[in-house]
Amino acid sequence: MRCLTCKRATNQEHTTRWRAARPVQYRAHYRVQAAVVAGRLLVGPCAECGAEKVHAHHANGYEGDAVFDVVWLCPKHHSAAHKARSEATEKGAG
Ligand SMILES: [Zn+2]
Ligand SMILES: [Zn+2]
Repeated sequence: MRCLTCKRATNQEHTTRWRAARPVQYRAHYRVQAAVVAGRLLVGPCAECGAEKVHAHHANGYEGDAVFDVVWLCPKHHSAAHKARSEATEKGAG
């Protein structure tokens, strides 16, 4: 698993730093994971290509119910979605 932002392989130190730098994103991903485990949120295939290995992409941000408003994207299309967005205005959303 590699971080999309810095391309480093993820390790404990890196994960800790990521959490510290993005508490809102971390909390959002944590809540999504909890919802998936609880069966309240269904993990789907990549919305673009149907790949089964997917990330939760927060298309509408991390506030309130938008936390659960996720688009499932494979690593490739997830990174493409962020590239497209950073060319617009928002940066750093997950
Ligand atoms: Zn895909
Ligand atoms: Zn994303």
